Amino acid sequence: MTAILEASGLNKTFGAVTAAKDINIAVARDEIVGIIGANGAGKTTFVNMVTGWLTPTSGAIRFDGRDITGLAPRRITRLGICRSFQVAQVFMTATVFDNLMIALGIADSHGLAVLKPLRLAEREARADAILRRYRIHEYRDQVASTLPQGIRKLLDIAMAMVAEPKILLLDEPTSGISVEEKFGLMDIVMSALKEDGVTVLFVEHDMEIVERYVGRVLAFYQGEIICDAPPAQALIDPKVIEFVIGDE
Ligand code: ATP
Repeated sequence: MTAILEASGLNKTFGAVTAAKDINIAVARDEIVGIIGANGAGKTTFVNMVTGWLTPTSGAIRFDGRDITGLAPRRITRLGICRSFQVAQVFMTATVFDNLMIALGIADSHGLAVLKPLRLAEREARADAILRRYRIHEYRDQVASTLPQGIRKLLDIAMAMVAEPKILLLDEPTSGISVEEKFGLMDIVMSALKEDGVTVLFVEHDMEIVERYVGRVLAFYQGEIICDAPPAQALIDPKVIEFVIGDE
């Protein structure tokens, strides 16, 4: 397996608290990985270390064969790792289309990923293509603050994708989304990301989503990975049942 992302011997301590303990993983290109764990298990700490928001106390992170340990978030984004947050980070007073245009403008001005500076017409065409891919084109001219939660979430993920990352980290993509909407939303997100050939790691508390959409589960407990297996195996693992599912 050629790993796109590797963590070796990763530790993070905050004073007396060990938030990450000897994490060793290798993620292959195109994998869809679900990160599960009770509150305080270390999921966000792990995501923050991969994206450069936190520097590990020890250990190393490699992306595409290159050591990225301790690089600033902006440099890591530029190399091709992007993230989206639990609460959608969109510009509430701008339209859906303008949000995409702003995201493209920011990506351009930061020289992100593979994007070359685009002319206005090219940028507009790209924004429209992305809106179609994420099935939010019918909301194109609607102001973000008036969007249903699920559509705002799709917009947020679409905005993270303008920089054409190789890895996308998502924090609970379906949080705050109704039960009726959640599978529809994930179907759109996952098929779009698959088309784009992105490796996805996402933190998720909803085991129905984990079961249906991920190929591999990383279960965290007290900063350690206690299970690394496909969902069919992970979700019946006694340790996962006791320390993750039982604690939800
Ligand atoms: P949640 O599901 O609640 O987001 P989590 O699995 O993401 O939880 P982390 O936020 O990574 O867990 O926290 C892991 C441990 O590290 C917890 O005990 C937390 O209190 C501690 N921790 C995280 N960030 C800090 C910090 N900046 N300073 C001190 N302790 C921290």
